[in-house]
Amino acid sequence: MKKSEDFGEWYNEIVELAGLSDKRYPIKGMNVWTPYGWKIMQHIDRYIRHYCDDTDHHEVLFPLLIPENEFSKEKEHIKGFDAEVFWVTHAGLNPLDVKMLLRPTSETAMYPMFSVWIRSHADLPLKIYQIVNVFRYETKMTRAFIRVREIHFFESHTCHADFEDAERQIRENFEITEKLMRHLCLPYKVLKRTEWDKFPGACYTVGIDMLLPSGRSLQLGSIHQYKDNFSRPYEIKYEDEKGEHKYVHQTTFGMSERLIGAVIAVHGDDKGIIMPPDIAPYQIVVVPIPAKGSVEEVYSEAKKLAQELKNNEFRVHLDLRDVRPGNKFYDWEIKGVPLRVELGPRDIANNSCVAVRRDTGEKATIKRSELQDRVNTIIASISESLLEKATKNLENNIVDATSLDNLPEKLIRVGWCGSEECGRKIETTTDRSILGNDVSDASPRKVKCVVCGKDAENVVHLSKPM
Ligand code: ZN
Repeated sequence: MKKSEDFGEWYNEIVELAGLSDKRYPIKGMNVWTPYGWKIMQHIDRYIRHYCDDTDHHEVLFPLLIPENEFSKEKEHIKGFDAEVFWVTHAGLNPLDVKMLLRPTSETAMYPMFSVWIRSHADLPLKIYQIVNVFRYETKMTRAFIRVREIHFFESHTCHADFEDAERQIRENFEITEKLMRHLCLPYKVLKRTEWDKFPGACYTVGIDMLLPSGRSLQLGSIHQYKDNFSRPYEIKYEDEKGEHKYVHQTTFGMSERLIGAVIAVHGDDKGIIMPPDIAPYQIVVVPIPAKGSVEEVYSEAKKLAQELKNNEFRVHLDLRDVRPGNKFYDWEIKGVPLRVELGPRDIANNSCVAVRRDTGEKATIKRSELQDRVNTIIASISESLLEKATKNLENNIVDATSLDNLPEKLIRVGWCGSEECGRKIETTTDRSILGNDVSDASPRKVKCVVCGKDAENVVHLSKPM
């Protein structure tokens, strides 16, 4: 399987071979999380929890079901979601008076409660999050982690006294995103969506986007400024210092299991996936390589070596399966374990072992006395070089264009005056979507709109979304 020849095929095959998820469950788009894939997700969730807790967010857990009348309160929101919703219509043998839906996201589950919880300015800001499964009826072709119908999902929801405080929250969300993405070694763009592509009910939406090897973009998450668009229909009000009643301003921030899809897509190669060390289920696999007559000695030394690495806080797997070392190498390369440590009779005699990097294939002979330091250095270097390589690749795949003809399958940047007419024309002419301008890039630009030729400040990114 060649990643460069057919990315889609490669992706499906590698997910299966690496044992990341099992799509044979008898509901399309609802896959089983297998142990190896679930371990990766748990490491990612652990970082999300850490950075949320660290910024005074509090974890909650809301019911899965939402009554139809609550779902329908914000008109734009329901319009945006009603084609994707799974409904519960019966309880036992009786049809329900009020239908219920499986949450596609939790605004309409949480906001009736927020209106009860929030009374005064002293209750603000309210910052909560949950990590749950959400359900969306995807009609496009499903793909593990990238497009599924039951989605492992992180969502934070915040309420603020005013628009400015909500804006501060959005900047904090950018910081959390940056910290999280470092652990995943993923470069990304934060791009402000057009008016016609924003989240249903939002004042504005910023997408967290990355580029797939196929040249298509993948949205990994999104951050929304709601202003008071939801607090009005849901009556989320507080009493300010002067005794006046005001509507709160709200934000949300969501990311999903697509993060795993991105890790597979960006870092993987023809041999399999490559796990960034921070989220790898096993950072190191120890493979004993016994010769005739030395099996017991080698296994026993390998156990000691693995234990030593575990004592130094690495996540280590000792592979004692009764198969050839070559098969073990192959299996762990597919699963992307960042570092393989081999130990044979000659290494034992020399008081050393051999470490092989999954990303570059580089081999190093390591003295046992220097084991901890050397392995620490190599693991850190793997993280750095994965990010560096991915960042270069992203930069090499961004193309500035001054016309809409013959665009390559890359992330395209063009000038746009901001008018809907020109924006729509850009999208229909190129068969691409405007992902938006880069909100992290504050330097003013002087460009011309690619359609009307007027002076433009927006340099927008275009792509075919996955
Ligand atoms: Zn224009």
